[in-house]
Amino acid sequence: MRWPRFLRQPRDPGGDADHARDRARMVAEQLEARGIRDPELLTAFGAVERHLFVDGDEPYGDHALPVGSGQTISQPFVVAMMTAAARPEGGWEGAAVLEIGTGSGYQAAILAALGARLVTIERHATLADEARGRLAQAGYADRVTVVVGDGTSGLATRAPYRSILVTAGGPSVPTPLMEQLEPSGGRLVMPVGDRQHQILTLVVRDGDEWTHEALEPVVFVPLIGEHGYPEEA
Ligand code: SAM
Repeated sequence: MRWPRFLRQPRDPGGDADHARDRARMVAEQLEARGIRDPELLTAFGAVERHLFVDGDEPYGDHALPVGSGQTISQPFVVAMMTAAARPEGGWEGAAVLEIGTGSGYQAAILAALGARLVTIERHATLADEARGRLAQAGYADRVTVVVGDGTSGLATRAPYRSILVTAGGPSVPTPLMEQLEPSGGRLVMPVGDRQHQILTLVVRDGDEWTHEALEPVVFVPLIGEHGYPEEA
């Protein structure tokens, strides 16, 4: 079809319809069918164009995918589970949120779609640059700041955070991140364990007390940094 000059031509007119259908199926079969019920969360997963963030033939498939620099992004259900666990008590709208491990930028886009104001830290500059571009293309650049660095120390200048999501697996929850949580009910979600297997762990802060709750066994790439694992030789 020819598009009138005053209309922005879709990137891929036929493809967009296919992606929308795949996204709706992903929401129904991978999220709702497995117990994700929060309508806000389902709407965000239905809206964010995952195919802009990941390469490959099956951007909406029920599996992890490579995102470059030897890193991967989790399957949509794991992203949804982490997001559900990290939800601030008062909701996402306007909440100050920190993500460690930008990767493709998809998790950041989901949080932005939910209304969060987000800083996300990535140790690989190439991934951070690509994620910035994708977030801009998907329309979330104004709500997300991408920073290059070691996220295990957090970003004290923007603290406190109502929610912190660590999307790489570390040996323990970094102390700086616990300290940067909002004292009244700040929530942190992170895979904790060895380099091969972790338990998704929820930490909730109440003043000077932090409660830890084990959620699910998961497999994430390692969190490398001062308060994570050393880089392998
Ligand atoms: N959230 C990402 C997404 O939506 O695509 C997936 C993240 S991937 C599972 C983990 C990411 O954490 C990798 O990109 C890796 O480079 C990054 N990472 C590992 N250690 C880090 C650290 N100390 N600081 C910042 N990023 C780190």
